[in-house]
Amino acid sequence: MKEQVKEDLFDKVVALCKRRGFVYPGSDIYGGLANCWDYGPLGSQLKKNVKDMWWRNIVQERDDIVGIDAAIFMHPRTWEASGHLQKFSDPLVDCRKCNQRFRADELSEDAECPAGGKHELTEIRDFNLMFETQMGVVKNETSRVFLRPETAQGIFVNFANVQTSTRKKLPFGIAQIGKSFRNEITPRRFTFRTREFEQMEIEYFVKPEQADEAFKSWVDTRFSWYKKLGIKESNLRLRQHEQDELAHYAKGCFDVEYLFPWGWGELEGIANRTDFDLRRHSEYSGKNLSFFDPDTNEHVMPWVIEPSGGVDRATFAFLVDAYDEDTAVSAKGKEEVRVVLHLHPRLAPVQVAVLPLLRNKPQLIEKAKELEKNLRKHYLVDYDDRGQIGKRYRRYDEIGTPFCLTVDFDTLEDDSVTVRDRDTMEQERIKISDLRHYLDEKLLMDM
Ligand code: ATP
Repeated sequence: MKEQVKEDLFDKVVALCKRRGFVYPGSDIYGGLANCWDYGPLGSQLKKNVKDMWWRNIVQERDDIVGIDAAIFMHPRTWEASGHLQKFSDPLVDCRKCNQRFRADELSEDAECPAGGKHELTEIRDFNLMFETQMGVVKNETSRVFLRPETAQGIFVNFANVQTSTRKKLPFGIAQIGKSFRNEITPRRFTFRTREFEQMEIEYFVKPEQADEAFKSWVDTRFSWYKKLGIKESNLRLRQHEQDELAHYAKGCFDVEYLFPWGWGELEGIANRTDFDLRRHSEYSGKNLSFFDPDTNEHVMPWVIEPSGGVDRATFAFLVDAYDEDTAVSAKGKEEVRVVLHLHPRLAPVQVAVLPLLRNKPQLIEKAKELEKNLRKHYLVDYDDRGQIGKRYRRYDEIGTPFCLTVDFDTLEDDSVTVRDRDTMEQERIKISDLRHYLDEKLLMDM
Protein backbone atom coordinates (compact mmCIF):
# COMPACT_ATOMS: atom_id res chain seq x y z
CA MET A 1 0.00 0.00 0.00
CA LYS A 2 2.79 2.34 0.99
CA GLU A 3 4.63 1.58 -2.28
CA GLN A 4 1.42 2.38 -4.15
CA VAL A 5 1.22 5.80 -2.51
CA LYS A 6 4.85 6.49 -3.40
CA GLU A 7 4.40 5.42 -7.04
CA ASP A 8 1.54 7.83 -7.10
CA LEU A 9 3.73 10.60 -5.72
CA PHE A 10 6.28 10.12 -8.51
CA ASP A 11 3.56 10.33 -11.19
CA LYS A 12 1.98 13.36 -9.57
CA VAL A 13 5.22 15.31 -9.36
CA VAL A 14 6.18 14.46 -12.95
CA ALA A 15 2.71 15.54 -14.14
CA LEU A 16 2.96 18.78 -12.15
CA CYS A 17 6.38 19.42 -13.68
CA LYS A 18 4.98 19.29 -17.19
CA ARG A 19 1.69 21.07 -16.43
CA ARG A 20 3.25 24.07 -14.74
CA GLY A 21 6.47 24.35 -16.71
CA PHE A 22 9.12 22.91 -14.43
CA VAL A 23 10.32 20.16 -16.78
CA TYR A 24 9.15 19.15 -20.25
CA PRO A 25 10.05 16.09 -22.33
CA GLY A 26 13.00 17.16 -24.53
CA SER A 27 12.27 17.79 -28.23
CA ASP A 28 8.59 17.31 -27.42
CA ILE A 29 7.19 18.43 -30.80
CA TYR A 30 9.25 15.70 -32.52
CA GLY A 31 7.88 13.06 -30.22
CA GLY A 32 10.64 13.53 -27.66
CA LEU A 33 14.21 12.21 -27.49
CA ALA A 34 14.47 9.33 -25.06
CA ASN A 35 15.43 10.36 -21.54
CA CYS A 36 16.21 13.95 -22.44
CA TRP A 37 14.43 16.64 -20.46
CA ASP A 38 14.13 20.41 -20.86
CA TYR A 39 13.69 22.69 -17.88
CA GLY A 40 10.90 25.21 -18.43
CA PRO A 41 10.45 28.70 -16.94
CA LEU A 42 9.82 27.52 -13.38
CA GLY A 43 12.21 24.57 -13.47
CA SER A 44 15.14 26.55 -14.84
CA GLN A 45 14.64 29.16 -12.10
CA LEU A 46 14.37 26.45 -9.41
CA LYS A 47 17.51 24.74 -10.70
CA LYS A 48 19.33 28.08 -10.83
CA ASN A 49 18.28 28.76 -7.23
CA VAL A 50 19.69 25.36 -6.17
CA LYS A 51 23.00 26.18 -7.87
CA ASP A 52 23.04 29.72 -6.48
CA MET A 53 22.52 28.46 -2.93
CA TRP A 54 25.33 25.95 -3.36
CA TRP A 55 27.69 28.56 -4.82
CA ARG A 56 26.80 31.03 -2.11
CA ASN A 57 27.38 28.51 0.66
CA ILE A 58 30.58 27.05 -0.84
CA VAL A 59 32.28 29.93 -2.65
CA GLN A 60 30.82 33.26 -1.51
CA GLU A 61 30.60 32.59 2.22
CA ARG A 62 33.95 30.82 2.64
CA ASP A 63 37.43 32.25 2.33
CA ASP A 64 39.07 28.87 1.62
CA ILE A 65 37.27 27.98 -1.63
CA VAL A 66 37.36 29.62 -5.06
CA GLY A 67 35.24 28.86 -8.11
CA ILE A 68 36.14 28.08 -11.71
CA ASP A 69 34.28 27.34 -14.93
CA ALA A 70 36.36 25.00 -17.07
CA ALA A 71 35.70 23.84 -20.64
CA ILE A 72 33.70 20.67 -21.33
CA PHE A 73 36.27 19.49 -23.90
CA MET A 74 39.59 18.58 -22.37
CA HIS A 75 42.89 17.25 -23.70
CA PRO A 76 42.44 13.50 -24.37
CA ARG A 77 45.41 12.71 -22.10
CA THR A 78 43.26 13.92 -19.19
CA TRP A 79 41.12 10.80 -19.47
CA GLU A 80 44.13 8.51 -19.63
CA ALA A 81 45.50 10.07 -16.46
CA SER A 82 42.17 9.97 -14.63
CA GLY A 83 41.60 6.34 -15.55
CA HIS A 84 38.31 7.02 -17.35
CA LEU A 85 39.55 5.74 -20.71
CA GLN A 86 40.48 2.35 -19.26
CA LYS A 87 38.00 1.96 -16.43
CA PHE A 88 34.91 4.14 -16.73
CA SER A 89 32.59 1.41 -17.90
CA ASP A 90 29.52 -0.56 -16.93
CA PRO A 91 28.99 -4.27 -17.64
CA LEU A 92 26.74 -4.59 -20.68
CA VAL A 93 24.73 -7.58 -21.95
CA ASP A 94 22.43 -7.89 -24.99
CA CYS A 95 19.45 -10.20 -25.33
CA ARG A 96 19.59 -12.09 -28.64
CA LYS A 97 15.81 -12.53 -28.66
CA CYS A 98 14.46 -9.05 -27.87
CA ASN A 99 17.61 -7.07 -28.80
CA GLN A 100 17.42 -5.01 -25.62
CA ARG A 101 20.53 -3.96 -23.72
CA PHE A 102 20.94 -4.21 -19.98
CA ARG A 103 23.43 -3.43 -17.28
CA ALA A 104 24.45 -6.91 -16.17
CA ASP A 105 24.58 -5.82 -12.52
CA GLU A 106 20.98 -4.57 -12.66
CA LEU A 107 19.29 -7.45 -14.49
CA SER A 108 17.55 -9.91 -12.22
CA GLU A 109 17.95 -13.66 -12.84
CA ASP A 110 14.26 -14.26 -13.39
CA ALA A 111 13.51 -11.25 -15.64
CA GLU A 112 11.01 -12.13 -18.39
CA CYS A 113 11.95 -11.47 -22.02
CA PRO A 114 9.26 -9.54 -23.94
CA ALA A 115 9.82 -12.03 -26.78
CA GLY A 116 8.76 -14.84 -24.43
CA GLY A 117 10.48 -16.96 -21.77
CA LYS A 118 13.84 -15.97 -20.35
CA HIS A 119 16.37 -13.61 -21.96
CA GLU A 120 19.07 -15.16 -24.11
CA LEU A 121 22.05 -13.10 -23.04
CA THR A 122 25.41 -12.44 -24.67
CA GLU A 123 28.66 -12.50 -22.71
CA ILE A 124 29.23 -9.49 -20.47
CA ARG A 125 31.21 -6.71 -22.16
CA ASP A 126 32.66 -3.56 -20.66
CA PHE A 127 30.89 -0.55 -22.11
CA ASN A 128 32.74 2.75 -21.72
CA LEU A 129 30.32 5.49 -20.68
CA MET A 130 32.20 8.39 -22.24
CA PHE A 131 30.68 10.15 -25.27
CA GLU A 132 33.19 10.53 -28.03
CA THR A 133 33.25 13.14 -30.79
CA GLN A 134 35.63 14.78 -33.26
CA MET A 135 37.10 18.22 -32.84
CA GLY A 136 37.79 20.33 -35.94
CA VAL A 137 37.11 19.65 -39.60
CA VAL A 138 39.48 16.76 -40.26
CA LYS A 139 38.42 13.41 -38.86
CA ASN A 140 41.32 11.35 -37.60
CA GLU A 141 42.68 9.76 -34.45
CA THR A 142 44.23 13.02 -33.18
CA SER A 143 40.93 14.89 -33.38
CA ARG A 144 39.18 12.42 -31.05
CA VAL A 145 37.80 14.18 -27.95
CA PHE A 146 35.35 13.26 -25.21
CA LEU A 147 32.50 15.08 -23.54
CA ARG A 148 33.59 15.21 -19.91
CA PRO A 149 31.90 12.56 -17.74
CA GLU A 150 32.56 14.63 -14.59
CA THR A 151 33.55 18.21 -13.89
CA ALA A 152 36.26 17.19 -11.41
CA GLN A 153 39.06 16.76 -13.95
CA GLY A 154 38.65 20.40 -15.03
CA ILE A 155 39.55 21.31 -11.47
CA PHE A 156 42.59 19.02 -11.20
CA VAL A 157 44.17 20.25 -14.43
CA ASN A 158 43.74 23.83 -13.20
CA PHE A 159 45.14 23.18 -9.73
CA ALA A 160 48.52 24.82 -10.35
CA ASN A 161 47.07 27.78 -12.28
CA VAL A 162 44.53 28.51 -9.55
CA GLN A 163 47.00 28.05 -6.71
CA THR A 164 49.55 30.36 -8.33
CA SER A 165 47.09 33.07 -9.27
CA THR A 166 45.23 33.11 -5.95
CA ARG A 167 48.23 32.30 -3.69
CA LYS A 168 45.99 30.01 -1.60
CA LYS A 169 47.65 27.77 0.93
CA LEU A 170 46.55 24.28 1.98
CA PRO A 171 43.90 23.54 2.94
CA PHE A 172 41.88 25.17 0.18
CA GLY A 173 39.26 24.11 -2.31
CA ILE A 174 38.18 24.70 -5.90
CA ALA A 175 34.50 24.49 -6.80
CA GLN A 176 32.74 24.15 -10.12
CA ILE A 177 29.22 23.70 -11.48
CA GLY A 178 28.73 22.40 -15.00
CA LYS A 179 27.40 19.85 -17.44
CA SER A 180 28.67 16.30 -17.59
CA PHE A 181 27.81 13.51 -20.01
CA ARG A 182 27.62 9.75 -19.56
CA ASN A 183 26.29 7.31 -22.08
CA GLU A 184 24.28 5.48 -19.40
CA ILE A 185 23.03 2.06 -20.47
CA THR A 186 19.76 2.45 -18.61
CA PRO A 187 18.83 6.11 -18.09
CA ARG A 188 15.54 6.36 -16.20
CA ARG A 189 13.44 7.74 -13.42
CA PHE A 190 12.90 11.15 -14.93
CA THR A 191 15.87 13.44 -14.26
CA PHE A 192 17.48 11.06 -11.76
CA ARG A 193 19.60 9.24 -14.33
CA THR A 194 20.11 10.95 -17.67
CA ARG A 195 22.90 11.06 -20.23
CA GLU A 196 23.37 14.81 -19.95
CA PHE A 197 23.29 16.29 -16.47
CA GLU A 198 24.79 18.94 -14.26
CA GLN A 199 27.17 18.45 -11.38
CA MET A 200 28.31 20.66 -8.53
CA GLU A 201 31.71 19.53 -7.34
CA ILE A 202 34.33 20.60 -4.84
CA GLU A 203 37.91 19.38 -4.75
CA TYR A 204 39.27 20.27 -1.34
CA PHE A 205 43.07 20.02 -1.18
CA VAL A 206 44.71 19.23 2.14
CA LYS A 207 47.96 18.02 3.62
CA PRO A 208 47.86 14.22 3.99
CA GLU A 209 47.60 14.44 7.77
CA GLN A 210 44.56 16.76 7.50
CA ALA A 211 42.60 14.40 5.26
CA ASP A 212 40.66 12.34 7.82
CA GLU A 213 39.35 15.36 9.67
CA ALA A 214 38.48 17.27 6.49
CA PHE A 215 36.64 14.22 5.18
CA LYS A 216 34.50 13.98 8.33
CA SER A 217 33.77 17.67 8.28
CA TRP A 218 32.70 17.66 4.61
CA VAL A 219 30.34 14.73 5.18
CA ASP A 220 28.61 16.76 7.92
CA THR A 221 28.64 20.01 5.96
CA ARG A 222 27.07 18.53 2.88
CA PHE A 223 24.47 16.49 4.74
CA SER A 224 23.35 19.62 6.62
CA TRP A 225 23.10 21.67 3.43
CA TYR A 226 20.19 19.55 2.16
CA LYS A 227 18.53 19.71 5.58
CA LYS A 228 18.88 23.47 5.86
CA LEU A 229 17.27 23.88 2.47
CA GLY A 230 14.21 22.09 3.71
CA ILE A 231 14.57 18.36 2.98
CA LYS A 232 12.96 16.34 5.77
CA GLU A 233 15.56 14.58 7.87
CA SER A 234 13.59 11.33 7.77
CA ASN A 235 14.09 11.30 3.99
CA LEU A 236 17.87 11.74 4.18
CA ARG A 237 20.58 9.32 5.20
CA LEU A 238 24.29 8.79 4.95
CA ARG A 239 25.55 5.53 3.55
CA GLN A 240 29.15 4.49 3.96
CA HIS A 241 30.66 2.57 1.05
CA GLU A 242 31.79 -0.98 1.72
CA GLN A 243 35.48 -1.64 1.16
CA ASP A 244 34.77 -3.56 -2.09
CA GLU A 245 32.64 -0.69 -3.45
CA LEU A 246 35.44 1.86 -3.19
CA ALA A 247 37.41 2.98 -6.23
CA HIS A 248 40.94 1.54 -5.95
CA TYR A 249 42.44 4.93 -5.08
CA ALA A 250 39.74 6.03 -2.59
CA LYS A 251 40.26 5.69 1.11
CA GLY A 252 36.66 6.26 2.11
CA CYS A 253 33.32 7.38 0.69
CA PHE A 254 29.93 8.36 2.03
CA ASP A 255 26.83 8.92 -0.07
CA VAL A 256 24.14 11.37 0.94
CA GLU A 257 21.00 9.49 -0.04
CA TYR A 258 17.40 10.63 -0.45
CA LEU A 259 14.31 8.50 -0.08
CA PHE A 260 12.93 8.91 -3.61
CA PRO A 261 9.45 7.54 -4.38
CA TRP A 262 11.11 4.30 -5.63
CA GLY A 263 13.54 3.97 -2.71
CA TRP A 264 16.88 5.34 -1.51
CA GLY A 265 19.06 6.95 -4.19
CA GLU A 266 22.35 8.87 -4.22
CA LEU A 267 22.25 12.66 -4.20
CA GLU A 268 25.92 13.25 -3.61
CA GLY A 269 29.10 11.31 -2.91
CA ILE A 270 31.83 12.54 -0.57
CA ALA A 271 35.12 10.74 -1.13
CA ASN A 272 38.64 10.80 0.21
CA ARG A 273 40.58 10.41 -3.06
CA THR A 274 44.07 10.47 -1.50
CA ASP A 275 46.74 12.05 -3.74
CA PHE A 276 45.70 9.91 -6.72
CA ASP A 277 44.49 12.69 -9.03
CA LEU A 278 47.31 15.21 -8.70
CA ARG A 279 49.90 12.44 -8.74
CA ARG A 280 48.50 10.95 -11.96
CA HIS A 281 48.21 14.33 -13.69
CA SER A 282 51.79 15.11 -12.65
CA GLU A 283 52.92 11.84 -14.26
CA TYR A 284 50.91 12.21 -17.46
CA SER A 285 51.52 15.93 -18.04
CA GLY A 286 55.11 16.06 -16.86
CA LYS A 287 54.23 19.09 -14.69
CA ASN A 288 54.92 18.83 -11.00
CA LEU A 289 51.60 19.50 -9.27
CA SER A 290 52.89 19.32 -5.72
CA PHE A 291 52.35 22.28 -3.42
CA PHE A 292 55.30 24.19 -2.05
CA ASP A 293 54.66 25.05 1.56
CA PRO A 294 56.52 28.29 2.35
CA ASP A 295 56.11 27.69 6.10
CA THR A 296 58.03 24.42 6.08
CA ASN A 297 59.98 24.85 2.82
CA GLU A 298 58.71 21.46 1.71
CA HIS A 299 56.84 20.13 -1.28
CA VAL A 300 53.72 18.08 -0.55
CA MET A 301 51.43 16.24 -2.94
CA PRO A 302 48.00 17.34 -1.65
CA TRP A 303 45.30 14.84 -0.79
CA VAL A 304 41.80 15.54 -2.02
CA ILE A 305 38.39 15.39 -0.38
CA GLU A 306 35.68 15.48 -3.04
CA PRO A 307 32.02 16.30 -2.37
CA SER A 308 30.34 15.64 -5.72
CA GLY A 309 26.62 16.28 -6.15
CA GLY A 310 24.12 16.23 -8.99
CA VAL A 311 22.13 19.40 -9.65
CA ASP A 312 19.27 17.58 -11.39
CA ARG A 313 18.94 14.96 -8.67
CA ALA A 314 18.99 17.60 -5.95
CA THR A 315 16.40 19.70 -7.82
CA PHE A 316 14.10 16.70 -8.20
CA ALA A 317 14.56 15.74 -4.54
CA PHE A 318 13.65 19.28 -3.44
CA LEU A 319 10.52 19.10 -5.59
CA VAL A 320 9.37 15.68 -4.40
CA ASP A 321 10.10 16.48 -0.79
CA ALA A 322 8.15 19.74 -0.97
CA TYR A 323 5.08 18.13 -2.56
CA ASP A 324 2.04 17.92 -0.33
CA GLU A 325 -1.71 17.68 -0.58
CA ASP A 326 -4.09 18.95 2.06
CA THR A 327 -7.69 20.00 2.15
CA ALA A 328 -8.78 23.59 2.00
CA VAL A 329 -12.24 25.11 2.03
CA SER A 330 -13.16 26.98 -1.15
CA ALA A 331 -14.97 30.34 -1.28
CA LYS A 332 -18.20 28.41 -1.76
CA GLY A 333 -17.56 26.43 1.42
CA LYS A 334 -16.60 23.21 -0.38
CA GLU A 335 -13.68 21.07 0.78
CA GLU A 336 -11.07 20.79 -1.96
CA VAL A 337 -7.72 19.10 -2.30
CA ARG A 338 -4.98 21.69 -2.23
CA VAL A 339 -1.67 20.82 -3.90
CA VAL A 340 1.16 22.75 -2.32
CA LEU A 341 4.93 22.77 -2.69
CA HIS A 342 6.51 23.69 0.63
CA LEU A 343 9.71 24.82 -1.09
CA HIS A 344 12.30 26.69 0.94
CA PRO A 345 11.78 30.43 0.20
CA ARG A 346 15.32 30.62 -1.18
CA LEU A 347 14.50 27.92 -3.72
CA ALA A 348 10.96 28.96 -4.73
CA PRO A 349 10.97 29.96 -8.42
CA VAL A 350 8.34 32.61 -7.65
CA GLN A 351 8.77 34.12 -4.21
CA VAL A 352 6.03 36.72 -4.33
CA ALA A 353 2.83 36.96 -6.39
CA VAL A 354 1.10 40.31 -6.78
CA LEU A 355 -2.64 39.93 -7.31
CA PRO A 356 -5.11 42.77 -7.86
CA LEU A 357 -8.45 41.63 -6.42
CA LEU A 358 -10.42 42.45 -9.56
CA ARG A 359 -9.31 42.69 -13.13
CA ASN A 360 -11.67 45.33 -14.43
CA LYS A 361 -10.73 48.10 -12.00
CA PRO A 362 -7.98 50.24 -13.57
CA GLN A 363 -7.01 51.82 -10.25
CA LEU A 364 -6.33 48.43 -8.68
CA ILE A 365 -4.39 47.25 -11.71
CA GLU A 366 -2.26 50.40 -11.75
CA LYS A 367 -1.46 50.10 -8.04
CA ALA A 368 -0.64 46.39 -8.34
CA LYS A 369 1.56 46.92 -11.41
CA GLU A 370 3.51 49.62 -9.63
CA LEU A 371 4.06 47.32 -6.63
CA GLU A 372 5.08 44.45 -8.90
CA LYS A 373 7.62 46.64 -10.69
CA ASN A 374 9.23 47.77 -7.44
CA LEU A 375 9.38 44.31 -5.89
CA ARG A 376 10.86 42.72 -9.03
CA LYS A 377 14.12 44.53 -8.27
CA HIS A 378 14.50 42.51 -5.08
CA TYR A 379 12.66 39.19 -5.35
CA LEU A 380 11.36 36.68 -7.89
CA VAL A 381 7.95 38.18 -8.59
CA ASP A 382 4.97 37.22 -10.69
CA TYR A 383 1.74 39.08 -11.44
CA ASP A 384 -1.66 37.58 -12.15
CA ASP A 385 -5.07 39.19 -12.49
CA ARG A 386 -7.02 36.30 -14.06
CA GLY A 387 -9.75 34.43 -12.22
CA GLN A 388 -11.09 34.26 -8.70
CA ILE A 389 -8.63 35.17 -5.97
CA GLY A 390 -8.99 31.77 -4.24
CA LYS A 391 -8.14 29.95 -7.47
CA ARG A 392 -5.12 32.18 -7.95
CA TYR A 393 -3.88 31.34 -4.44
CA ARG A 394 -4.13 27.64 -5.35
CA ARG A 395 -2.13 28.13 -8.52
CA TYR A 396 0.67 29.78 -6.57
CA ASP A 397 0.54 27.13 -3.81
CA GLU A 398 1.07 24.52 -6.49
CA ILE A 399 4.36 26.11 -7.62
CA GLY A 400 5.57 26.83 -4.11
CA THR A 401 5.16 30.63 -3.91
CA PRO A 402 5.63 31.56 -0.24
CA PHE A 403 3.61 34.83 -0.34
CA CYS A 404 0.69 36.23 -2.31
CA LEU A 405 0.03 39.97 -1.99
CA THR A 406 -3.51 41.06 -2.75
CA VAL A 407 -4.20 44.63 -3.78
CA ASP A 408 -7.84 45.53 -2.97
CA PHE A 409 -9.98 48.64 -2.58
CA ASP A 410 -8.70 49.26 0.95
CA THR A 411 -5.18 49.40 -0.49
CA LEU A 412 -6.16 52.59 -2.32
CA GLU A 413 -7.13 54.12 1.04
CA ASP A 414 -4.61 52.73 3.55
CA ASP A 415 -1.63 51.80 1.33
CA SER A 416 -1.60 48.28 2.77
CA VAL A 417 -1.92 44.86 1.12
CA THR A 418 -3.16 41.49 2.31
CA VAL A 419 -0.23 39.10 2.64
CA ARG A 420 -1.23 35.46 2.46
CA ASP A 421 1.15 32.78 3.72
CA ARG A 422 1.43 29.60 1.59
CA ASP A 423 2.05 27.23 4.50
CA THR A 424 -0.38 28.52 7.13
CA MET A 425 -2.84 30.10 4.65
CA GLU A 426 -3.11 32.92 7.17
CA GLN A 427 -3.57 36.47 6.00
CA GLU A 428 -2.37 39.72 7.46
CA ARG A 429 -2.41 43.38 6.43
CA ILE A 430 0.99 44.92 5.86
CA LYS A 431 1.77 48.52 4.92
CA ILE A 432 3.43 48.77 1.52
CA SER A 433 6.18 50.85 3.11
CA ASP A 434 6.95 47.93 5.49
CA LEU A 435 6.86 45.23 2.81
CA ARG A 436 10.55 45.22 1.98
CA HIS A 437 11.50 44.68 5.58
CA TYR A 438 8.83 42.02 6.05
CA LEU A 439 9.76 40.09 2.89
CA ASP A 440 13.53 40.40 3.41
CA GLU A 441 13.15 38.71 6.75
CA LYS A 442 10.97 35.91 5.46
CA LEU A 443 12.55 35.30 2.08
CA LEU A 444 16.21 36.13 2.29
CA MET A 445 17.10 34.51 5.59
CA ASP A 446 20.63 33.23 6.14
CA MET A 447 21.24 29.52 6.14
P1 ATP B 1 25.30 6.39 -9.75
O1 ATP B 1 25.90 5.29 -8.90
O2 ATP B 1 23.90 6.78 -9.34
O3 ATP B 1 25.47 6.17 -11.23
P2 ATP B 1 27.77 7.69 -9.41
O4 ATP B 1 28.22 7.17 -8.08
O5 ATP B 1 28.34 7.11 -10.66
O6 ATP B 1 26.17 7.67 -9.46
P3 ATP B 1 29.31 10.04 -9.24
O7 ATP B 1 30.25 9.65 -10.29
O8 ATP B 1 29.74 9.99 -7.81
O9 ATP B 1 27.95 9.24 -9.42
O10 ATP B 1 28.75 11.50 -9.59
C1 ATP B 1 28.44 12.45 -8.60
C2 ATP B 1 26.99 12.89 -8.66
O11 ATP B 1 26.60 13.23 -9.99
C3 ATP B 1 26.00 11.80 -8.24
O12 ATP B 1 25.87 11.76 -6.85
C4 ATP B 1 24.73 12.26 -8.92
O13 ATP B 1 24.05 13.22 -8.13
C5 ATP B 1 25.23 12.92 -10.19
N1 ATP B 1 25.07 11.99 -11.32
C6 ATP B 1 25.91 11.00 -11.70
N2 ATP B 1 25.44 10.36 -12.79
C7 ATP B 1 24.27 10.96 -13.11
C8 ATP B 1 23.30 10.76 -14.15
N3 ATP B 1 23.47 9.82 -15.08
N4 ATP B 1 22.20 11.55 -14.17
C9 ATP B 1 22.03 12.52 -13.24
N5 ATP B 1 22.91 12.76 -12.25
C10 ATP B 1 24.02 12.01 -12.17
